[in-house]
Amino acid sequence: METPLHAYSVNPVCCNGCGACASMLPELFAMDEVAEKPVVLLAEAPAADIERAMAFCPHDCIEMD
Ligand code: SF4
Repeated sequence: METPLHAYSVNPVCCNGCGACASMLPELFAMDEVAEKPVVLLAEAPAADIERAMAFCPHDCIEMD
């Protein structure tokens, strides 16, 4: 069975740039050191990976479409 893929994004207003998402899931996120916000690296990712990132975010800023 294929793993369902979903688009995902970061709400930049609530994100405080802690970097947890990029540390825990570097295949999905990288930190923009100038903006001090994460950027998404993929158009879509497995739902389970996005849900892991959502669980690590202390401010619930990661959204899955
Ligand atoms: S874990 Fe959440 S608050 Fe921290 S950088 Fe990532 S999106 Fe922003």
